[in-house]
Amino acid sequence: MSKRKRMSNSNIFIKLIKYTWRASPLTFSALVVASLLFSVLRYGEIVVLQSLFSNILEVVKGAPFDIMIKPILAILVILILNPVAEWLEFLAQGYFWRRGNGYMQSLYHDRINRMDLIDYEDVENYDDFKKASIGNQEAPNGIRVIVQILFLYVPFILITSIYLINIKPMLVLAIVLIFIPVFISELIRMSNNYDFEDKIANRRRRTEYFENCIVSKENFKETLINGSFNYFYNQFLNSNKKFSKAFVEVKNKLLKIAVVMRIINTLGYICVLALLVYYLYNGSISVGQFAAIYYSIEKITSMLKKLIENIGEALVGISSTSFLIRFLNEEKESEREGELSKEDDIVLKDVSFRYPNAKEKALSNINLTIKAGTSLAIVGENGSGKSTLTKIIMGLYNPSQGVVEYGKENIAKYSNSSKFSNISAVFQNFIKYKLPAEDNIRISHISSQEEIENASSKINLSFEDYKINNDTILSREFGGQELSGGQWQRIAIARGLYRPHDLIVLDEPTAAIDPIEEANVFSTFKNLSDDKTCIFVTHRLGSTQIADKIVVLENGKIVEEGTNQELIDLKGKYFDLLESQAKWYVR
Ligand code: ADP
Ligand code: MG
Repeated sequence: MSKRKRMSNSNIFIKLIKYTWRASPLTFSALVVASLLFSVLRYGEIVVLQSLFSNILEVVKGAPFDIMIKPILAILVILILNPVAEWLEFLAQGYFWRRGNGYMQSLYHDRINRMDLIDYEDVENYDDFKKASIGNQEAPNGIRVIVQILFLYVPFILITSIYLINIKPMLVLAIVLIFIPVFISELIRMSNNYDFEDKIANRRRRTEYFENCIVSKENFKETLINGSFNYFYNQFLNSNKKFSKAFVEVKNKLLKIAVVMRIINTLGYICVLALLVYYLYNGSISVGQFAAIYYSIEKITSMLKKLIENIGEALVGISSTSFLIRFLNEEKESEREGELSKEDDIVLKDVSFRYPNAKEKALSNINLTIKAGTSLAIVGENGSGKSTLTKIIMGLYNPSQGVVEYGKENIAKYSNSSKFSNISAVFQNFIKYKLPAEDNIRISHISSQEEIENASSKINLSFEDYKINNDTILSREFGGQELSGGQWQRIAIARGLYRPHDLIVLDEPTAAIDPIEEANVFSTFKNLSDDKTCIFVTHRLGSTQIADKIVVLENGKIVEEGTNQELIDLKGKYFDLLESQAKWYVR
């Protein structure tokens, strides 16, 4: 988002209020009513105070005590209504926080769900998600303060100003002198924080990463065996130091501004007091008015202080929230529904692909036709572009150049929610869900038990052999059991098979299985998917013989293409690789 357009603050506020209303109209209204009630009560105190003081003076001069009854009753009413307003506010805020937070969270998750895989490859994007997720937690707090500003502080300050203007127009200067400096310093603070979050997100992520290298379970064993604790710890300290330095720099600057504004604020306060004493002295205001004015200025000041206290934290939240709002409101290009169907050939026309910020293309000028229902093997050395090519074929990435067609339709504009409908994949680094064994297999859709057994038996996977049940959680962390790498691979493959598909991709999920076993898995696959399109990726050529077609990748280009026999006859790259790997297949 940093390179994208910055939304105006007012726009963000309006959007935020809109979301809040949608999250829960009732709690939002209750919060508004409570805030309004507070502002009316505060104003009521001022008016009552004035009449109380004036009347006391009258009574002292000999007027009947009756005139005291009305103001005293009014004070009682205010005293009773105060806790009512407090209670209402307390309730509204509690509910509000949960509702608002839940709602924003759901919008955020929904937006994440609509993201493209490529968005994750862009570092800047990635930082923006981080910022948006901080904003996600802060949003309700921000909204609460906005409501209080709009329905408590602003109305109170407005009516009190009108009250003061009616008595002495000059007194409104008091409001300005007291309000403006504080307001300005908060504005500066807010914009500083925005830039700060912008600058610091990457540093924060790195610091967290190094910490993770030390403390996380996944990394711990390598850190231990490599003796790399000190390395990571130093990296962490270093990164943290830079993070803190940037932090302190911003805070220092803010502190200086705050001090200057505070001085202006205090001077303003003194001027106002002097003015008041002068008015009282020359008789242009009464003692009752003096008391009420003094009280109202006192109230405005203390309210502003409270506001600033809140605002400080909330504005920090709001500027993070603005990342969230922008993230939620980012337009995606128009999309339409579309999916692969059984009869569709998959055709790549002059496809090139470059990862964001990468210098070299990962794929260049790929022309490839995969006939419906046939099998394709993609072979090549590490880094030759095999995984990238499968992602392009599946539509996980859109080509930077050229098109991918399913049955003559360009798939680039298909929506994420539709285009993967008939596609299943077992990725090179598949996920090991810390879930029950059976859910690990049927994660793509929950269906009958029979199908799981079906998928499992096809690849000789038996939970019994692993000494687990269907509902054993595959992680000791959650009271279950750990599996070996090879066992996990079978689970992942069963997961891929379980998902109904017309195209299935296996991207070297077989690395932890020996070459002969891999060849078995591939041939099982080919047999299972006789009428389905099937792509396997491997760097081990023994397994590829059964494929209807083989492409050899080198540096992101197709260098050879044909059947096993054709490529052997060609005596090129494929042949060389096959020769050098032949020893693996001699039992
Ligand atoms: P293979 O699967 O054949 O080992 P890949 O398709 O994973 O190769 O990678 C092809 C090239 O693209 C490599 O040079 C690799 O460094 C680069 N690459 C892979 N993934 C990414 C990524 N997420 N961001 C940037 N470059 C990448
Ligand atoms: Mg790969």
